Amino acid sequence: MNLMELDDFHWLMDILQTIDVGLVVIDRHYHVQLWNGFMENHSGHLASHIRGQSLIEQFPDLPEGWLRRKVEEVFALRSPVFSSWEQRPRLFDFVSTRPFTGHSVLMYQNITLMPLLSRSGNCDHICIILYDVTDAAIGKLGLQQANQQLKALSITDRLTGLYNRGHWEECLRLEYQRYQRTSSPVTLMMFDIDFFKKINDTYGHPAGDAVLRRVSATLRHELRNTDIAGRYGGEEFGVLLLDTDTTTAHAVAERLRIAISNLLIEHEGQQITLTISLGLACLAKSMANAADWLVEADNALYHSKRNGRNQVTLARPAIPLREMNAGHLTHC
Ligand code: GH3
Ligand code: MG
Ligand code: MG
Repeated sequence: MNLMELDDFHWLMDILQTIDVGLVVIDRHYHVQLWNGFMENHSGHLASHIRGQSLIEQFPDLPEGWLRRKVEEVFALRSPVFSSWEQRPRLFDFVSTRPFTGHSVLMYQNITLMPLLSRSGNCDHICIILYDVTDAAIGKLGLQQANQQLKALSITDRLTGLYNRGHWEECLRLEYQRYQRTSSPVTLMMFDIDFFKKINDTYGHPAGDAVLRRVSATLRHELRNTDIAGRYGGEEFGVLLLDTDTTTAHAVAERLRIAISNLLIEHEGQQITLTISLGLACLAKSMANAADWLVEADNALYHSKRNGRNQVTLARPAIPLREMNAGHLTHC
């Protein structure tokens, strides 16, 4: 090495020491050969202490299996390997302090493993390059979280927490399309609170809101996870009962009707009771589109209303099922 080369080497070492990137050189036995300033600052291990030591033994929390696989790959292929924070958030459990909030979080790292060839062309060392990408990662994660929250808000009814009408109607259309392919039974249940206007007029609008919330909670409690419930209008609700024929749907509807009629809702010292009217329509090939299906269920619901409320009607032919059980068959 001539003098100029020695100078170059000195500068290079200065740069490697101070650069804001982690640099570690290991040999085939994972013994550390180089440990720069970034690694010293974040690990608390001085280069003078760690040089010649096994990286794996010094850092028992390292993902050893993953690291060994990658290192072997680099030695075998003699080409670099890259791993982003999205694939694996970090190699070293370093802490990063956020500039504005002062909060401490675990550092997100992009990792490159690079083969180091000797002058004679041998590859006996690997350089691990560690980039602190915490800012970018937190930004992206925050954005993803915000997007998820926005999406959830855009499909949810504020008052009841059920799906809003727009999203529920989208689900209705999708179920209609799915039925064209699979033909597995699916029943639409529509229901509406009886004399809800009277509840508002008697107890006040906030009491009406409390009733809507309680009805929705009862509905959620009665349904299976696969059922899709939405608030269709003010006090009208729609439920898609998947893989459900009319017999099972009737049992679900009756259970819900009875559960609602048994509610005693306390609101500011007042006790409120209520009932609902329901309509059921099992999807059939004769229905030309999702809107037809909805009309069938709605007609059945209004049959329940006209027929005295607090009952279930099945579309085509419209039979109030409560009466059917009691031995009274009526058609609309
Ligand atoms: P029926 O048995 O025939 O269904 O009679 P009803 O009184 O329940 O039906 P109607 O359509 O006459 O009244 C519905 C009422 O629901 C009128 C409206 O002010 C009220 N409403 C709609 N949305 C809300 C809401 O978000 N909160 C409250 N508290 N009331 C609402
Ligand atoms: Mg009503
Ligand atoms: Mg209504």
